[in-house]
Amino acid sequence: MRTHCPHCNGPCTIRKTTQVSSTYREVTLTCNNTDCGYVFVASVSPVRTLSPSSIPDPDVNIPISTHIDRRALVKALSE
Ligand SMILES: [Zn+2]
Repeated sequence: MRTHCPHCNGPCTIRKTTQVSSTYREVTLTCNNTDCGYVFVASVSPVRTLSPSSIPDPDVNIPISTHIDRRALVKALSE
């Protein structure tokens, strides 16, 4: 995962990750630009499903992308 600094747009390095829940992770990043030195926390969370898991966790509910053919997906999951 590459992220750029919101202040100087320079590349950042991940210093720490914390799994808060099964669908939410916090990432601590530092800007590599020594003139900037910004340190911040970003969040990583699934937004939508592009291809369903073969071993889905029933407690995880992530919306299916509108780009997916829902009828084909329902048929595949019922087989
Ligand atoms: Zn920066």
